[in-house]
Amino acid sequence: MSPGNVVCGQCGAPLRPGIRFCEECGNPVVSPAVPQEPVLTGDDGDTDLLLGYAMDLDAAVLYEEAVRAYSRVLARDPGRIEAIFNRGLDYFYLSRYGEAMPDFEKYLGQVPDDAFALKYLAISCMETGRAEMGRELMKKARSIDPGIDEK
Ligand SMILES: [Zn+2]
Repeated sequence: MSPGNVVCGQCGAPLRPGIRFCEECGNPVVSPAVPQEPVLTGDDGDTDLLLGYAMDLDAAVLYEEAVRAYSRVLARDPGRIEAIFNRGLDYFYLSRYGEAMPDFEKYLGQVPDDAFALKYLAISCMETGRAEMGRELMKKARSIDPGIDEK
């Protein structure tokens, strides 16, 4: 779900989030429908409804909105692991590395050997001036999954 993976169906040019027409060829961009906010019922199922909504927002490349939805999930259930990881990833895609790091650290506290989370935390460290820590984390990510790259 990297933003770089969203390309024009007509010419293959990369598409920036939110645009209506391809900037290369003018082809209309068919974007996923904007998810509808769920109607909450006030019981325990609301947390799952909000989590599903947040994931739909991610699928529609609406990362700012997804961050807000994941934060609502975490306000209800602070240990909800998918919401912690996915919000970290949204912050990462938004280049908000300082905010991504605590989410990845919290996630890795529960899933310490997740090579992808280690990689994203490593890059976040490098982007925020913690080069040495970033290199150590990348080394650990590669020791778990040798196929991990720095992209
Ligand atoms: Zn195009």
